[in-house]
Amino acid sequence: MTSLPQADIVARLESDVPLARLTTVGIGGPARGFARPDTVAELEQLLAWARDQALPVVVVGLGSNVLAADSGVDVLVVRLSGLLASVEIDGSRLVAGGGAPNAVCLHRARAAGLGGMEFACAIPGTAGGGVRMNAGAYGRDWSDIVEKALIVGRAGAAWHSRDELDLGYRHSALTAGDVVARVVFQLVPRDSAEIRRDVAELNTRRKATQPINRRTFGSVFKNPDHALGAGPMLDACGLKGHAAGGARISPRHANFIENVDGATASDALELMSEARKRAFEQYGVVLEREVELLGDLELPPAGELP
Ligand SMILES: Cc1cc2nc3c(=O)[nH]c(=O)nc-3n(C[C@H](O)[C@H](O)[C@H](O)COP(=O)(O)OP(=O)(O)OC[C@H]3O[C@@H](n4cnc5c(N)ncnc54)[C@H](O)[C@@H]3O)c2cc1C
Repeated sequence: MTSLPQADIVARLESDVPLARLTTVGIGGPARGFARPDTVAELEQLLAWARDQALPVVVVGLGSNVLAADSGVDVLVVRLSGLLASVEIDGSRLVAGGGAPNAVCLHRARAAGLGGMEFACAIPGTAGGGVRMNAGAYGRDWSDIVEKALIVGRAGAAWHSRDELDLGYRHSALTAGDVVARVVFQLVPRDSAEIRRDVAELNTRRKATQPINRRTFGSVFKNPDHALGAGPMLDACGLKGHAAGGARISPRHANFIENVDGATASDALELMSEARKRAFEQYGVVLEREVELLGDLELPPAGELP
């Protein structure tokens, strides 16, 4: 019996999927279109279709560093799945689809006796989102373990070395529309029990200092070039627990905003503006945001804060 051809990815496009369902903070209106490609071929087909429609494309991993507009976003939102979210071990390399969750990568690495990814235990994103943001914690980041990444963009699909990705503090060379479809991590042989022990220790440290089981989008601002990091600086500005609508600055860590009760993007932006204003007034520091804004959202320039 011959199998029926898979419905083409464009025919499987969904509409009106709310970003609130696709982001850890649970905020955001509908995307114009939403698609879940399983293969590089499907991804290329989608990107070509979106280009023909003049529709911008935004990839969302686990949506753990994203704040989307309440009114929605006029783009095609793409979430990688199937082969584009799978994980394989190849010797001392871990080869992950761009949409593979960090927790799955770490689990597979530990099972294979490969260390180096332990720092990612508390970063609730994907392999591809980690490349885009050069995710990091505890003094290590993606640039320490990424060997190369397969980028699918306007010019087609091509492998980029770590140097070409130009990974820096929450920075990469990726531009709008570039999709990280696959990532090769170079890891090192390590005893699984040691990996488990280090991960448990890092998780304990994290639980002592950051909000746990709260809807957040991770760090709001990058750490400024200052003796104080963004969290301690905003704490010193008296902002812990400060609220706007259904959002509040975490009483545990002032560089996190929690969706406490039906928060909107406007509530979160109001808190971000207040935080930047106070940091500017008290320390002369212009905090730069780490969270990615989607849709019609903008922070006022630091000099014109309300
Ligand atoms: C509780 C909590 C703790 C966190 N702690 C940390 C931390 O310690 N360190 C840290 O660095 N971050 C932290 N974050 C932020 C976040 O987890 C990271 O930035 C993560 O790497 C984002 O991955 P993601 O897949 O969820 O990307 P998303 O949040 O979905 O997207 C972030 C950006 O990456 C782009 N993107 C996502 N996937 C791809 C892809 N495949 N190809 C191209 N672009 C892509 C998106 O378009 C967007 O611009 C934390 C977040 C939370 C909620």
